[in-house]
Amino acid sequence: MASDNRKQAVSAHVERWVRTDVQALKAYHVPTIGEHVIKLDAMENPYHWPSTMHQAWLDSLQQIHVNRYPDADCSQLKQAFREAFQIAEDYEILFGNGSDELIQLLAITLAGPKRTILAPEPSFVMYKMIAQYLQMDYVGIPLGTDFSLDVGAMLKAIETHNPALIFLAQPNNPTGNVFGEEKVRRIIEATSGLVVIDEAYTAFSSSDAYSLLADYSNVVIMRTLSKVGLAGLRLGYLIGHPGWLAEVNKLRLPYNINVLTQASTVFALQHVDELLKQTAQICADREALKERLSAFDNLHVWPSEANFLLCRTLEHDAAEIQRLLLARGVLIKCLHGTHPLLNNCLRITVGTPKENEVLLRELAALLAS
Ligand code: PMP
Repeated sequence: MASDNRKQAVSAHVERWVRTDVQALKAYHVPTIGEHVIKLDAMENPYHWPSTMHQAWLDSLQQIHVNRYPDADCSQLKQAFREAFQIAEDYEILFGNGSDELIQLLAITLAGPKRTILAPEPSFVMYKMIAQYLQMDYVGIPLGTDFSLDVGAMLKAIETHNPALIFLAQPNNPTGNVFGEEKVRRIIEATSGLVVIDEAYTAFSSSDAYSLLADYSNVVIMRTLSKVGLAGLRLGYLIGHPGWLAEVNKLRLPYNINVLTQASTVFALQHVDELLKQTAQICADREALKERLSAFDNLHVWPSEANFLLCRTLEHDAAEIQRLLLARGVLIKCLHGTHPLLNNCLRITVGTPKENEVLLRELAALLAS
């Protein structure tokens, strides 16, 4: 058949021309789920905005012209960030289509033959994936069994591999802990490469690396609005010395932040108190959920400074629990098989109190069997 012939011809072209390492890759998998499933797998904020705020947001969008390109410099957005988060004029801000895009941009900026990205493991999977996409060397240094940063091993790796780029996620995903400022400083001081402090979860933690910018010339801070209620808008941001960000900016595609995201974020930042209120609620609910989960004697729960909790099943197969929980209408993330330190581990995003109750009820049934 003609279409089969076409398919074969396409395969031949792909095989001939697409990088063999790309052909060997698997695309990042995001599960498709039913409408009524309680989604506790992706660290989203479960709350909507109050209806008056929601209406005011819709009204504000009426002034948007989708026939025009967005402001390539995001000047209004930048000003809104400076005011909402007190970012000094000494530092530049660079926006990405999610912090995923910023990780990619940073890596492209520093990529080259025999250039290395270094990160502790387990951590955010994109650091390694993007290193692979760019054919960079990637070195992952295992965390301790308590998920603390192994500074000795990190320093040794810095000496051996002279990394161009180091990613430190603080709080770390998927372990939920912070590594501590003193350890982070030792890493920064030991390298001439760029250290990216990934603060995706900083809103749920007392840790804040902003002050490191004043002390070091090889640090940038990366944050995102995804976890505080704007995941669908895709907005990540880098804060750093203008000298670094000017270079990264050269490789940014001109209109990477669309008009709806720019306007909606400016609006959201005018209501930053509401975002902070929701964040505080999630932190309180995290502690309540942790206590309840800790009461299961066949589940180990780690402390967390993020909007999720990492747990280990002690008597059950974690993948099986995740599968059965989904059949009961709750989606969480199974991490078993992703790293040796994460055997039988599950990551549960903190939902609304009602969602957390359903999770606890269904999990209790599964862990009792
Ligand atoms: N950094 C860390 C540590 C993360 O966990 C995530 C999301 N899972 C990101 C960055 C990317 O977030 P986004 O692209 O939504 O800004």
